[in-house]
Amino acid sequence: MVGFYKFMQLAQTPETGVWNQDYVYYVTERQYKHAGCKVEWPWFLNMPGLKYEKFDKSQVPQGLGLQYGFCCDGVVISTTLYMVWLLNENLKTGRFKIQRRSISDLKEAIGLHHRGKADIVVNATGLLARDLVTPEEAAKVHSVRGTTLLVESNAGKQYTVKDHDPEFPGEYLYVMSRQEGGTVIGGCFEKDAEHRKTIDPAQRQRYLDRVKKYVPHLLNSKGELDIVREQVGFRPGRVGGPRIELDQKWTHDNGGVALIHNYGHEGSGFLSSWGSSARVLKVVNDFLGFKAKL
Ligand SMILES: Cc1cc2nc3c(=O)[nH]c(=O)nc-3n(C[C@H](O)[C@H](O)[C@H](O)COP(=O)(O)OP(=O)(O)OC[C@H]3O[C@@H](n4cnc5c(N)ncnc54)[C@H](O)[C@@H]3O)c2cc1C
Repeated sequence: MVGFYKFMQLAQTPETGVWNQDYVYYVTERQYKHAGCKVEWPWFLNMPGLKYEKFDKSQVPQGLGLQYGFCCDGVVISTTLYMVWLLNENLKTGRFKIQRRSISDLKEAIGLHHRGKADIVVNATGLLARDLVTPEEAAKVHSVRGTTLLVESNAGKQYTVKDHDPEFPGEYLYVMSRQEGGTVIGGCFEKDAEHRKTIDPAQRQRYLDRVKKYVPHLLNSKGELDIVREQVGFRPGRVGGPRIELDQKWTHDNGGVALIHNYGHEGSGFLSSWGSSARVLKVVNDFLGFKAKL
């Protein structure tokens, strides 16, 4: 929730890389049946102030096997632009010195503070947290493979078509246009498939077939997609969801330098980033308050 309102606000400033784009969401008949004929709205439809319009079966585009849907206000984060903006916002404060280092033990982070020794270490290492935390915690970390096509055309809106293909249950169509031009088409959610580093042709074809069916205005005059790039990424998943907490044992073992974990955000690390940061800040403040009392 924190993130949604923050990104809506950032969308008012073009150089952030965040921009408004209406969101269209459809659920197919077979997804509806797979869910036991239950209508399932995403959590964010309950957010106060969000404008939306729901569609029943008679109001969704006909002949495509769709059951229901909605459209609402939305934002897209063009991550390449957004990350640069975010970095610059931090640099502008003059309070940061950036270093690019690989560490093999979280203790090494203590000595990387530009004034000498850090009082607080935040572990935001995503999937690679599994190499830095205890074996019990590492066992909870897993990857969720995602593949996307970046194409030249612009969809005008964001689309999600929630479907249940029994042959490919971890796939459904999502489409997001970027502020700098082009559109990202996804996607899939495959657990522990890090050995698969490229998109296979059959999957690329399935993405094309879905676009042809649901978002045909993305195709060029030959009925094809002008693909700029194919991308494969691994979402940093964690059994039990994100871990945001003070590591009491590590903190005790390292002379009171606080270690705060912030990893395991899987497929929503951008969306949840402002909320997660607020939680990290609360953990920091609680820790400092506790220390001051001692
Ligand atoms: C295909 C795909 C689609 C996605 N779509 C969305 C979306 O629509 N919305 C959304 O919110 N999220 C989305 N995500 C998920 C999002 O990208 C992640 O949740 C997010 O990047 C996690 O951020 P993070 O900072 O926790 O980890 P990361 O982005 O992985 O960053 C971790 C950092 O820690 C550094 N690091 C790790 N180990 C070490 C070490 N030993 N020493 C030094 N540095 C280290 C890494 O170099 C890296 O810079 C998607 C992901 C994929 C793959």
